[in-house]
Amino acid sequence: MEVFFIIVFALFGLVFGSFFNVVGLRLCKGENLAFPGSHCPKCNHMLKYYELVPVFSYIFLKGRCKNCKEKISIMYPVIEMFTAVLFAVCYYVYGFTPELFLGLLLCSLFIIIIVTDLNYYIIPDSIVITFGILIFIYNIITKGILDAATYVLFGFIMFLFMFALMKFGNFLFKEESLGGGDIKLMGILGMTVKPLVSALSLTLAAIIALPCSLFFLIKKKDKIIPFGPFIVAAFIILIFTGIDTKDIIDFLMRM
Ligand SMILES: [Zn+2]
Repeated sequence: MEVFFIIVFALFGLVFGSFFNVVGLRLCKGENLAFPGSHCPKCNHMLKYYELVPVFSYIFLKGRCKNCKEKISIMYPVIEMFTAVLFAVCYYVYGFTPELFLGLLLCSLFIIIIVTDLNYYIIPDSIVITFGILIFIYNIITKGILDAATYVLFGFIMFLFMFALMKFGNFLFKEESLGGGDIKLMGILGMTVKPLVSALSLTLAAIIALPCSLFFLIKKKDKIIPFGPFIVAAFIILIFTGIDTKDIIDFLMRM
């Protein structure tokens, strides 16, 4: 039965991943999410249902538009498969518990941010606000209104912390260090865990980002490195491993 549901969640992930591709790209371009339907960006050929099947259509079409043979970005099937893996892992780790919902929410946010941040170096406000509200509702249902309010405060603390960090970074490097999107993102992620765990996530994000940014700098001569995906990745790692404030304090005490 376990395997059955893992497959079901992976399939859900494929479909949602396909949707997140559209959401991420269209929000950045300021387009409507529903209209017009999916089409080739070059020749505007409207995609038929059999050209819209996640991953399989890409393979079946050999990565090209059926009409004009323009190459389709490999990012589409990669994002779809990545979402499938994350959704399946979410179910595997949490089973049918309330935390499953939070895991799926964060993974969804993660995927959309990968699409927007890697393509356009932005995290749209509409995404930050939507997920902020969803996490707030999740907190009310699982923790009650009082704790949910406390966690909003936690988010606000992280927001201010990131803001201060950005000001300090700008002063130190004499150029833009952190994006506004990263600061707001940290604010809503701060609503999911206690501030100490948030701080740990941020540290972990910086540790993961360091080798990647060196790679970007050397390989692509690109100085702009999106930080958003690293922040969410760190949060997902910490939430999947279930590390709590108590564990961090215990660890620090033993050092
Ligand atoms: Zn085309």
